[in-house]
Amino acid sequence: MNQSAQLDRRFVWHPFTQMRDWLKREPLVIAEGRGAVLRDLRGREYLDANASIWTNLHGHNHPKINAAIRRQLKKIEHSSALGFANEPASLLASKLIAASNKSAGNANLKSQISNLKLGKVFFSDDGSTAMEVALKLAYEFTRRTRGKTSRPKFLSLDGAYHGDTVGAVSAGHIDLFHKAYSGLLFKTDKVMSPYCYRCPFNRAKPERADARDYRKCRFECVGLVEKKFAAQKRRGNPYAAFIFEPLMQGSAGMIPQPQTWLKQVSEIARHHGALLIADEVMTGFGRIGSAAASAAVRSALAPNTDIPRLSTLDADDEGVVGSARGGRAPLFATTQIQPDFLCLAKGMTGGYLPMAATLTTQNIFDAFLGDYAEFKTFFHGHSFTGNQLGASAALASLEILQSPASERARKNLETVLRNELQSLWPLPHIGDIRQVGLIAGIELVRNWRTREPFDLRDRAGIRVCEAMAKRGVLTRPIGNVVVLMPPYCTTAAQMQKMVRALREAVSEVFIETRSTR
Ligand code: PMP
Repeated sequence: MNQSAQLDRRFVWHPFTQMRDWLKREPLVIAEGRGAVLRDLRGREYLDANASIWTNLHGHNHPKINAAIRRQLKKIEHSSALGFANEPASLLASKLIAASNKSAGNANLKSQISNLKLGKVFFSDDGSTAMEVALKLAYEFTRRTRGKTSRPKFLSLDGAYHGDTVGAVSAGHIDLFHKAYSGLLFKTDKVMSPYCYRCPFNRAKPERADARDYRKCRFECVGLVEKKFAAQKRRGNPYAAFIFEPLMQGSAGMIPQPQTWLKQVSEIARHHGALLIADEVMTGFGRIGSAAASAAVRSALAPNTDIPRLSTLDADDEGVVGSARGGRAPLFATTQIQPDFLCLAKGMTGGYLPMAATLTTQNIFDAFLGDYAEFKTFFHGHSFTGNQLGASAALASLEILQSPASERARKNLETVLRNELQSLWPLPHIGDIRQVGLIAGIELVRNWRTREPFDLRDRAGIRVCEAMAKRGVLTRPIGNVVVLMPPYCTTAAQMQKMVRALREAVSEVFIETRSTR
């Protein structure tokens, strides 16, 4: 065993990992990466089929991001945002605002700026901290605007996962991860999420297709959201905020939302006066591919009445609205919905450095303004907030992302993934294949005709991923769901290899299961 593997086994505690299992074998030590390929210390090559836990966008060792970090290193690596501004973070904030707001089409610059709803960026370190910021701001905003008599309450989705810090866990609803800590948490309510494949309201028999496409229901899931909001209103303390991942719930098991669900529930939440907290930690930065454009058309809401004028932005600032004009494919699932909080992390730096952002509105910002002695300050921050290296990487990543070449490559890769996934349907242990853009969740089942699931203790997902690793493809399951989330630079041949490895792994593992039982 090499030295790194030995030291790891001796000293490192890995996240979301049963360390007893980990210690049974020699760990794979990643030494290098280029494009979609990872290389271990022994020189073996693997495809990075979950983009290094959903973070990597353009591939490893990208020359443009490398160069941007090097350029920044010649100036300064980090100075504190507590007390000082810096060049890359301020530029990045303006670019994030431009990329996340609705394009006003042909409107002139002035009216584009007055139409920017998300106007302020609070930087932090990762997805969990981006969510903490949104939760704290929404909580305190509600107390300040509604009165401090009742405690602001949040509603999130069944199966929700928004991170591992205590606030983010409070907004989560995955018992396996969260139950043990219930004593530490504040209570949030949950409402049914639209898991068409296993929905009790879906009367359709299983087919060899994505369950969203053959579901038979009356959108009872949306009705339940309406009921929940109405019931909470009757209690005299309407929900302060509705928290959701748009289009696809990741850690819940890659649960995609059927068409118009997002539009309908956003309208309900708004109607009941709740703030919208969109967690785009996984879906942001082009991950949801063409679904963003179609979501944009489907989700166009009635004109928003609470769009503030951004008095702090200069109407002549071409850079701020520049990219909002270009008619590019939206990078975020919620661009047309315009939430009150947009939480970003993971892919923000192209997967290079931990950096996150919570985008919010002038309205929220204004509630924290006051004379110093009023102590209305948002007392929250992290040491590395607005870090220059991270911001430089993020700027370079955004530039690549917004290039026509990257847009084309993402579109093509999405089609290749869609076509390749079809080859899995003949396997009897594939229950559902769910793709949104460049994210795919493949649910393994005991019996596709009855949707009978594997017991988690069977470790079906883990065993399939281990068999994929033997074939040179690395990914990580969520329970019985195998995830494919390729970096955007993945070639068609590499994509085919990822799906082939999955196909072969499923056949190998379940033939083994049959013969050993
Ligand atoms: N939100 C979502 C939707 C996520 O998928 C994750 C991480 N998987 C988080 C928040 C937390 O992000 P982090 O691990 O960077 O804290």
